[in-house]
Amino acid sequence: MTDIRFDGRVAIVTGAGNGLGKTYALELARRRARVVVNDLGGSGSGTGASAMAAELVVQEIRDAGGEAIANADSVATREGGNAIVQAALDTWGKVDVLISNAGFLRNNRFEDLTDQEIDPIIDVHLKAAFYVGQPAYRAMRAKGYGRILFTGSASAMFGHAWQANYAAGKGAMLGLSNVVAIEGSAYGITSNVILPTASSRLEAEMTPGFMEIPEFAKAFQNADFSLAQERIGPEFNTPLALYLVSEACTATHGVYSCNSGRYARVRICAAEGWVSPKGSVPPTLEQIASNFEQICTLGEYTEPMTPYDEFTSAVKAARKQGVYP
Ligand code: NAD
Repeated sequence: MTDIRFDGRVAIVTGAGNGLGKTYALELARRRARVVVNDLGGSGSGTGASAMAAELVVQEIRDAGGEAIANADSVATREGGNAIVQAALDTWGKVDVLISNAGFLRNNRFEDLTDQEIDPIIDVHLKAAFYVGQPAYRAMRAKGYGRILFTGSASAMFGHAWQANYAAGKGAMLGLSNVVAIEGSAYGITSNVILPTASSRLEAEMTPGFMEIPEFAKAFQNADFSLAQERIGPEFNTPLALYLVSEACTATHGVYSCNSGRYARVRICAAEGWVSPKGSVPPTLEQIASNFEQICTLGEYTEPMTPYDEFTSAVKAARKQGVYP
């Protein structure tokens, strides 16, 4: 296998001052991409701002002989999104790669979420994907090449207590990316979603209150974290993220999970289902009820109901493949 490189490619990584985004930016630069390191530099709950977060990462890249520029605009505004993309265009004249990664958490019970906990979360996760994504897509379309990676979450795909706001924003990445992938296919642009899992400062925002939901607490307690711990650093996500935005990868319209060293495609699947009797008469509720089992049968597919179920299936897969004893 030849090395996967990014020579001559211009990449934007949002939220690259910390955690996952930082590892993406460092590795892109190490593989010779020219990188816009964007980060607003706020807290894990989205308060405050500082140019230092992006600047420190840029310094690290330059010290290692790479090329990068810092940008401290917010992804959560139209002006900020335009400015981030313009920084790439002004410096290097194009955008080849966008990793839309910036974000933060404001957890609370569904019934208690306030506008201050909903709006900024929707802005930074959902609207930012448009604010940065649209100008980046236009620049890619002009050159006939692009790789876009949106950041979703297992909390959205599978559900996580106390994160209705976050799951709503992250779940939207699925629909958005699917459409961008379809539209982009005419212009050499791919679009995918990554569901990362990493210990990062976002953990500090995870109030344990969600354990008040008995079913959820059970899933959390059943999750097999024991062997996963050593494989939960942000850098375990980096190879998958970077492969998905490389020229070598032409896969598009997909969702991919990274969980404790297990890399897996995730998809919404539909069962063969039950077909109502021939004719123009719709089935009754009772017919639906009596055929409900067939409607729900998914064969061999698994469908995690929480991110912690996914830990369990990741470890199960790892055991089957001899990775764990
Ligand atoms: P992190 O807090 O370490 O990094 C996120 C970065 O985004 C921070 O440096 C922050 O300053 C920046 N940011 C926040 N708001 C911004 C804004 N308006 N404009 C520009 N930058 C902004 O968190 P992380 O764990 O590395 O998370 C990265 C992404 O992955 C987030 O979208 C997060 O929701 C998602 N994610 C993380 C996990 C996980 O387990 N860590 C799981 C699923 C999804």
